[in-house]
Amino acid sequence: MDERLSIAVQKSGRLSEKSLELIRSCGIDFYADSRVLKASASGFPLDFLFVRDDDIPKYVSEGIADIGIVGRNEYDERGIELDIVRDLKFASCRLSVAVPKGFEYKGLSSLEGKKIATSYPNIMKKIFSSRGVNAEPVVVSGSVEVTVDIGIADAILDIVSTGTTLKMNGLEEVETIYRSSAILVATKDMKSEKKDLLFHLLERIDAVMLARHKKYVLFNLPKPRLEDAAAIIGGMKSPTVTPLLDKDWVSVQTVVSEERFWAVFENLKAIGAEGILVMDIEKMTE
Ligand code: ATP
Ligand code: ZN
Repeated sequence: MDERLSIAVQKSGRLSEKSLELIRSCGIDFYADSRVLKASASGFPLDFLFVRDDDIPKYVSEGIADIGIVGRNEYDERGIELDIVRDLKFASCRLSVAVPKGFEYKGLSSLEGKKIATSYPNIMKKIFSSRGVNAEPVVVSGSVEVTVDIGIADAILDIVSTGTTLKMNGLEEVETIYRSSAILVATKDMKSEKKDLLFHLLERIDAVMLARHKKYVLFNLPKPRLEDAAAIIGGMKSPTVTPLLDKDWVSVQTVVSEERFWAVFENLKAIGAEGILVMDIEKMTE
């Protein structure tokens, strides 16, 4: 039988949609139903295992799945050693200390001897002890933000993405001690046929990730402004320049990162660029 690769993905939660979307954008087609545990892809020998994110490191380490997508926070908290093959850069969040109003926070040392509610006692112990602070973790599995109010903790260490929930509970985020995003993990001793499949999957993932924040830009420009345009675009080996029927004009094609796009757009207009056309890029290589 031909070798297949299996991937453990969160069944339903903050990682699910983006994980599946990433795989779909690699041209791998499958039918996922949150009520079923497994699925098989077409277009690539990939099988899915839909599970709770907490279980992903264990399943990958035991070879029940070859690879998995999990939050770095969950991975570090479990302490199961796997190969981290890619940082997928989605589901970004931070682990922050939050204190009630009136708590005079002057740095992590203000938490010395205090009770800290968290779902991440292992990450907490590691970071606190590396910074010479002794505090007592109060382990809770959810609703960490209510623990101060009900009197079981002095402060909390919790995952934050916007901070709204903290504010609603009268807490103030005072320090971020750890950052997380989704990572792709793999079994440590994968056999070579599977490694080969993983290599091809990574090739696709890399191409998709590279294209993700880039735009393909096409515009017409008076030929004498070409040098100016090259300076505005910057960081490129050379934009592609094609002559137009009108000899005084050229058509220019280039790739611009999303963050720089509006600045580039305005500057190009200012030097007389016309008919600026912007397109998403699906996949690309360096
Ligand atoms: P499961 O039912 O699979 O155990 P869960 O409730 O533990 O799910 P989610 O809340 O879906 O997990 O979060 C999954 C991951 O998403 C987290 O481990 C973290 O890496 C990431 N994440 C991103 N933003 C947030 C956030 N605001 N709160 C919590 N997790 C977040
Ligand atoms: Zn979970």
